[in-house]
Amino acid sequence: MADCCSAPGLMPFEQALESMLRNITSVKETEKVLIHEALGRVTATVIQSPLNVPPHHNSAMDGYAFALSSLEKSNTLSLAGRSMAGEPFQGKCEAGQCIRIMTGAKMPEGCDTVEMQENCKSDDSGNITFLEPKKLGANVRSAGEDIAQGDTVFDAGRKLSAVDVGVLASLGVPTVEVYRKVTVALISTGDELKLPGETLTEGDIYESNSFALEAMLKKLDVNVLKLGIIEDDKEAIRDAFIQADRDADAVISSGGVSVGDADYTKEVLDELGEIDFWKIAMKPGKPFAFGKLANSVFFGLPGNPVSAMVTAHMLAVPALIKMQNSKNTAPMRLTVKTVTDLRKAPGRMDFQRGVLTTSASGEMEVTSTGSQGSGILTSLSMANCYIVLPAEQGRVSAGEMVTVQLFDSIISH
Ligand code: AMP
Ligand code: MG
Repeated sequence: MADCCSAPGLMPFEQALESMLRNITSVKETEKVLIHEALGRVTATVIQSPLNVPPHHNSAMDGYAFALSSLEKSNTLSLAGRSMAGEPFQGKCEAGQCIRIMTGAKMPEGCDTVEMQENCKSDDSGNITFLEPKKLGANVRSAGEDIAQGDTVFDAGRKLSAVDVGVLASLGVPTVEVYRKVTVALISTGDELKLPGETLTEGDIYESNSFALEAMLKKLDVNVLKLGIIEDDKEAIRDAFIQADRDADAVISSGGVSVGDADYTKEVLDELGEIDFWKIAMKPGKPFAFGKLANSVFFGLPGNPVSAMVTAHMLAVPALIKMQNSKNTAPMRLTVKTVTDLRKAPGRMDFQRGVLTTSASGEMEVTSTGSQGSGILTSLSMANCYIVLPAEQGRVSAGEMVTVQLFDSIISH
């Protein structure tokens, strides 16, 4: 009897991902960009701090700076000057003296502690009385406490976030060396496809894959070259693939990778490169093509909108991240209780769509978005996570524990 779980003829998802990643070469060329244009770019060098951040000891409060030892003799000190942010006190604060100081202002020489103004009383002759005992170093931010001079701030391969751009600015670094952007060409195949705004004739549908894929790829900070809908004509398909291969690092097409498809995609691809047509043990997204054209790598996504997005997200995106030289972070996975029964047959790894919420008692739980058909794109837009069910898993009953993978910012907001 055939083993129900070995899924004969299907390639396990992990094997497909690994074998694809092995064949991805990262871009080598770099360029210098201004830091305000560096969001989402990938650092090409290690970035070490040229200075201490903050550069000097400074006050964390508006108040008074002094040497703590001065308070051993008297809790009243004479005011000897002031230190403002950008306008430090120039002299030395002697024993028995204190200095008016504002948040961020440089600690005057001779001072080691700050008291906030709310805990002080000043009299008419300018003496300051300290109402509460203080600890040495209170309210002082040390030079280099955020970043010390020479520290590695970012390794090469860091995809810069909004906060990272701020960190670079705090180092006084105006530009940063990053890898060049990856360019991805998008092709949609299918004679039934019409653009939004056009009129549908019998048997037509609106083309959605290239719109969703373009939006997704923009989040990944790649250049997108949209070649549109290519009619089911061998010459037209060949021309589109030749242009895509010439102008892009990666070519992503959707549609025409399933067996028995009426179009010429496979024929043309076999002519132009070395493409493997896989049957991956994943659902959605069994048919998937990957390989090399003359100058680029090729990802052939299934046409069904959910399958196209899930295979793009789970397979093409990690490959593009590697091409960008970015270090991919493992997706966030949790084990939670399912509120709904989950239909599943053993054989393929499922990426079902779910909504993760917190129950009234404060526990995380997941609810299926309902019908899991690979054409039901709304099931993906409603979801905030995948319910990842391993290939050998059968149906799941409400109340059982399942693994969910939170949507990242590439597929979600
Ligand atoms: P295929 O993989 O070409 O056999 O297509 C599978 C299903 O996906 C068919 O119902 C197609 O009409 C649909 N489809 C293919 N390409 C697209 C697209 N770009 N946008 C929306 N649906 C598509
Ligand atoms: Mg088709």
